[in-house]
Amino acid sequence: MVIVLFGAPGVGKGTQAQLLSQRYGIAHLSTGEAFRQAIQQGTPLGKQVQEYVHNGLLVPDELATAVVAELLAQSPYRERCILDGFPRTLQQAHALDELLAQQGRSVELVINICVAEEEIVRRLLARGRPDDTEAIIRQRLAVYAEQTHPVLEYYRQQGKLHEVDGNADIETVHQRIVAVVFNTIGPLGDAASLHRASE
Ligand code: AMP
Repeated sequence: MVIVLFGAPGVGKGTQAQLLSQRYGIAHLSTGEAFRQAIQQGTPLGKQVQEYVHNGLLVPDELATAVVAELLAQSPYRERCILDGFPRTLQQAHALDELLAQQGRSVELVINICVAEEEIVRRLLARGRPDDTEAIIRQRLAVYAEQTHPVLEYYRQQGKLHEVDGNADIETVHQRIVAVVFNTIGPLGDAASLHRASE
């Protein structure tokens, strides 16, 4: 089972992916996080991607896809997975479908978290990551509108897209996402009850 959390930078994808991951005990795969870690550790991947990440540009599709392909083939991502920040282009969306088809699975659900642009800028400035200066934020939003937004249509046509209003506090948005998951995939059981059941 693969769930994609989708939305512009700053809508709270990472926070919501983490909450969902903890609630259901599903692995969380964030490409942005994987890149930031690689940059911090100075790995060959980190050196290849740092210019893009620091300038608010997308890492080339081949590179982003290779990272995801490697992780998706491994445990725990091989079982159930929440994708956060991937796919970000149509080419990545197609590549993801191929990768998952080879593993006999597919994207089940895409949740688009919608937040007004001025609120996004406000939140990102408050977050204060190194790539969160106002100029780079505007750059990332432009990249999102141009390259990432079209991916929504791809999933809408497949009937996989669900919209969630992200203009609320973290817990409220989480509950909205949980409701969408329940209504589309059904009861997943939360991590705590799975743990209790195995005792
Ligand atoms: P995020 O943490 O999702 O905001 O991603 C931070 C940065 O990592 C982005 O601004 C891009 O430079 C890069 N990045 C993350 N995911 C992708 C992706 N799927 N394709 C290309 N670049 C990505």
